[in-house]
This record gives sequence, C-alpha cells and structure tokens, in this order.
Amino acid sequence: MKKIHTFLLVAAMLSAATAVAQIPNEYTIAPWHGFSESAVTYSLDDLTSNQLPVAIPLFDKYGVKVSLNVVTTWVKPDEWPKLKAVAKSGHEVTSHTVNHKNMAQLSASEFELECKESKRIITQYTGAECITLVYPYCASAHKEISAKYYISARCCSKHIEPHTPADMFDISSVGVGTESDVNTAEEFNKWVDDGVAQKGWCTFLIHGIDDDGGYSPIKSSELEKHLAYVAKNPQKFWVATFAQISKYIIERDALTIRETKKSNKITVTVDCKAKTPLTALDEPVTISRQLPQGCSTAKTNAKNAVVSGGKITFDVVPGKTYKINCK
Ligand SMILES: [Zn+2]
Repeated sequence: MKKIHTFLLVAAMLSAATAVAQIPNEYTIAPWHGFSESAVTYSLDDLTSNQLPVAIPLFDKYGVKVSLNVVTTWVKPDEWPKLKAVAKSGHEVTSHTVNHKNMAQLSASEFELECKESKRIITQYTGAECITLVYPYCASAHKEISAKYYISARCCSKHIEPHTPADMFDISSVGVGTESDVNTAEEFNKWVDDGVAQKGWCTFLIHGIDDDGGYSPIKSSELEKHLAYVAKNPQKFWVATFAQISKYIIERDALTIRETKKSNKITVTVDCKAKTPLTALDEPVTISRQLPQGCSTAKTNAKNAVVSGGKITFDVVPGKTYKINCK
C-alpha cells in the first residue's frame, strides 16, 4: 500500500510540473512576482553562530526574507525560540536533515527518517510549515521519498536555475565565501545580473558570517553592499524564500484563469491544476489583463493592482475569484 501511495504522489507531482497553464488570450502570467525579471534566494546552511545575531538583522534592514536550513540535532535549545520568532516574521526555517549525513549513502528507510523527523521537529518548534529540503554535501538521492515530505530540494550545482526548473528536487545554488570565488559585493552582483540576463532564479548558498567559525565565511560588510544594490532594483530582482519561489513556480506553471464579462464588469476565477497535500498553494501570483476596448481605466478588489500601458496588473491566489470594474 505504501508503495502505491508513494507512486501516486510522485505521479501527481510530476503531472503538476508538466501541466501547462490555461489562460485566455487577454492575460499574461508574470514569470516572477510583480513582473520582476528574475528571482533571488538567500539560503543559509547549518545555523552558524552569526546567522541569527548578524545576518538576519542585516537582511531585515533591507526587507529581505531568507531561508535558514537547520540540522535539527545541531540547533541549541536556546536557538529554537529565536528560530520561531524569525519564522513568524516571514523568514523560512527549513530542513537540512536531522544528522547532516551524506543522503546518497543512506538506505531508503534511513533517508526517509531524516526527511520525516527533521520536518516534524522543525514544525513542532517553530509552529511554521517545513516544506523544502536542503541536502547535506549537496548529495541528492531518493527524490521520490523527498517528494513525500517536501515540494522542492536544493543542491549546489552553481548555475542560474531556469524559469521552469528541470527538476524541483535538484535546484541549483551558488556557493559563496572564502572557499569560492564569490566574496565581494561586485561578485555577488555579477551573479544576480546573470540571473536577470537568463530570466532565471539565483540562489546563494551561505554558511559562515564574518569570523563565526562557519564554513566558507562571507564578510557582512560585502553582503550589505550587495543587498543595497538588490534593494534598489525591485524591477530586476524578486527576492523571496526558497519555499515562496518554489510555490510560485508550481502555481504559475499550472494556473488556470476563467472569466465572465457583463458590460463593464469582469469576474476572474483563478485556480491551479497542481495539487499537493503538503501545503496550501497560496503564494500570490502576478497576472495582467489587457483593458477591454473603450475602457481607459479599471479597478479591482485584487491586491497590488496597477493600471498602466492599457493593462491592469494584480496578484491572485489559486481558488479565489476577483472582480475588475472598467471605466
Ligand atoms: Zn550543511
């Protein structure tokens, strides 16, 4: 029975990944939230000792939400309440497994325990959902088991992930710090600019911060200069957590839009062909609609609405209905 269940779940995830969005001609779905040209994630591993006291306040200063990937047996008791607070403020606290073993060397049952237990412990101590996985040593394996607990997983193959990733359980990241060639603000900026050129998703893999003894440290002063650059260019960069961007991709690529039109009133019903029992697919997706002929402006009850260039742009969530009033 268990095998059949796993097979069905994986089949469902696969069909979600290959589903094609179905939308009327008047609509465009934003590749990334807010029609930004690329997506950026800061993904911090191992909870090195300066991540909570130094890095998080710095990211907060620039309004950036990050993913903290924790090894549950490495978290000190006094760090759990801090992680809970950080999760409540919108950062992601997610799984870097229980024991930080090379997952490729584990049996299927050992692998499953690492997935299941880390998810259970993180959810229990933070009160937030835990839906993404970071493989220790970038060693992916048993993806069909990962898919029972997570919607996506991160590796570190040092490339910009394309608009639609080939494999949600093998998402690339770019290692930074002294063990890499990404240390200065300019070197960080070059990678995110490359993300814009490729219209893709740039995930930075961060360990140590300053002199905290963590692996491959980066200087917080260089990180800050880089964050200032990113914050100045929201049209280029949508910065969000690994989970948010994973959800956006799943929803965007399986979004359905139906509309009914009565004189100057349009009713828009949004749904998503991808379904997963692991999480609510409720990440806002940005769409736009051409204004109908004879309609110079419009109003909507949807969030973040902007009317410009003969279009109305707004955020939608699958399962909801929106109204547009043309004038
Ligand atoms: Zn690690």
